[in-house]
Amino acid sequence: MRKKFVAGNWKMHGNLAHNQELLEAVLKNTANMRQSEIAVCVPFPYLSAVQDLLRNTHVKWGAQTVSEHDKGAYTGEVSTEMLSDFGCKYVIVGHSERRVIYGESSQTVALKYLAAQRAGLIPILCIGETLEQREAQITEQVVGEQLNAIVETAGAESLMKSVVAYEPVWAIGTGKTATPQQAQEVHEFIRKSIADYNKKIASEITIIYGGSVKANNADELFAMKDIDGGLIGGASLIAEDFVAICEAAQN
Ligand code: PEP
Repeated sequence: MRKKFVAGNWKMHGNLAHNQELLEAVLKNTANMRQSEIAVCVPFPYLSAVQDLLRNTHVKWGAQTVSEHDKGAYTGEVSTEMLSDFGCKYVIVGHSERRVIYGESSQTVALKYLAAQRAGLIPILCIGETLEQREAQITEQVVGEQLNAIVETAGAESLMKSVVAYEPVWAIGTGKTATPQQAQEVHEFIRKSIADYNKKIASEITIIYGGSVKANNADELFAMKDIDGGLIGGASLIAEDFVAICEAAQN
């Protein structure tokens, strides 16, 4: 039985006062929700304050990207070791905003994934198609290639220590959610693709959905057989909404 997982992706939002208020409300209102894992992926400058707030609580934390290099002359970059210094458990890799805005290729994403695992962090690997790709009916091909890049670089066994987030690009921050059936179809495809490498990993790996998950659609999405929770952007910034989504993951 897979445990559900809900992770907030704050993106480039927040400030010290808002973060504290948000996390205190989340801690208080999810205290009894032990059926699922809850995490927040926060901007780098807030990791220290978030660590202070969440240490020894049921809510875990992480970052939104990381360098593929261990150390060196990479101005502006942050290494996996630095994330570990601040108690991160997770790091998002391959978010579509990184792929599209910052030109991260699947190969770069695979190197970041590998670096994260080398440091004992759990990568939350984002994969998903654009609207054009969906309309061209190549969703499975795109998602399959993104997954393959990981397998080729890090090996299929590495998936055991990762979370996959299916995030259709057309649904991120747009208010357009994939229907539960649309999301389930792709999740099933991802799980079957992983089963081609290793059946045990396929049955155990956590595959979450991201793309305009809100308090009013989380229940339906999380009820689908292959959807193990969600990666939540906008709604993770509002305590009441994030808590309601965490609640949906209890069932
Ligand atoms: C995301 O940032 O990964 C995301 C899914 O955002 P939103 O929930 O706002 O669509």
